[in-house]
Amino acid sequence: MRNHDSVNTKNELGMVICKVCNEVLYTLPTNRLKKFYVVCHKEQCVSKTREGDMK
Ligand SMILES: [Zn+2]
Repeated sequence: MRNHDSVNTKNELGMVICKVCNEVLYTLPTNRLKKFYVVCHKEQCVSKTREGDMK
């Protein structure tokens, strides 16, 4: 019986975060803490970004 999940998360220090809603979209296996800011696919976030770009 293996418990993969608890082992796997140990090195997942890279976090991909939506810069609009601040939700952690997924994690990446990195050896140090890193944050990547992106925009998720929620309509509210996409449209907000679009408005900001247009100004
Ligand atoms: Zn979002």
